[in-house]
Amino acid sequence: MVIKAMLNPRHLAAPLWLAAWRAGRALFPEPAGSFRILLFHDVPKAERPAFAQLVQSLADAGRLITPAQAEARLNSAAPKGQGRPPCLISFDDGFASNLEVAETILAPLGAKALFFVCPGLTDLSGQAQADSIAANVFDGKRGANDLTILGWDGVERLMALGHSIGSHTLSHKRLTALSPDQCAEQIEGAAQAFQARLGAVPEWFAYTFGDVGSINPPSLAAIAARHRFCRSGVRGLNVPGMSPLALRADHVDLAAPPAWRQVAVEGGLDPLYRKARAALDGMARGL
Ligand SMILES: [Zn+2]
Repeated sequence: MVIKAMLNPRHLAAPLWLAAWRAGRALFPEPAGSFRILLFHDVPKAERPAFAQLVQSLADAGRLITPAQAEARLNSAAPKGQGRPPCLISFDDGFASNLEVAETILAPLGAKALFFVCPGLTDLSGQAQADSIAANVFDGKRGANDLTILGWDGVERLMALGHSIGSHTLSHKRLTALSPDQCAEQIEGAAQAFQARLGAVPEWFAYTFGDVGSINPPSLAAIAARHRFCRSGVRGLNVPGMSPLALRADHVDLAAPPAWRQVAVEGGLDPLYRKARAALDGMARGL
């Protein structure tokens, strides 16, 4: 993995790229009230030092915000005249490691994050869960290996720690690959499962796979009927007044070299996703 990382041209260029991006941001700072949503999945033990360092550095800079603070910013209720945009931390898929990270890294810093879970996977255990992780979460490209999904007790523990839970579909299906009935089952079925188990439908939804090709207008309309916020995996800044159904997020590869991780966290990859953001905004506007 080290050799692969050294040979990755993007990773090699990251320090220069980061310096150029920072110089540009110094001249043209991000709009007041803007924020980023960082996106993580499973955080294996080997990557926890990198995760801890990232969260600590954001906390030290006063740049960690809670889901409620992010919501307020979308409504232009945020304080003006900020420095670098703050970050909301989010996790997809509800892996068991999420709770360990919440207890050992987020809790000591008082950080509150957003965890997107799939009730249909939470309900499974053993081989059935492993098969579903491999088929649905990893799209048949790899096995679950030793990865497991948090049970409801784990989800409730996250809530007790002050974190927010969002819906990530019922069983991690790609919405654009489904019939209208199947799509409704994934969105509405998840909402009903949350209602039955946690007593409320989450305000937040993150559609699976996150790319702009994995969402379409009917799916987004079904999401909007049950949730206030829809987070994509499309990179970019979130700004006051934007559609809460077209939120951007930046996946951070914790296995990548530090400069590359920092490029992602600071928005250095934003220019590559202009078209995807425009398509997402167009869908949200058309609802
Ligand atoms: Zn996912």
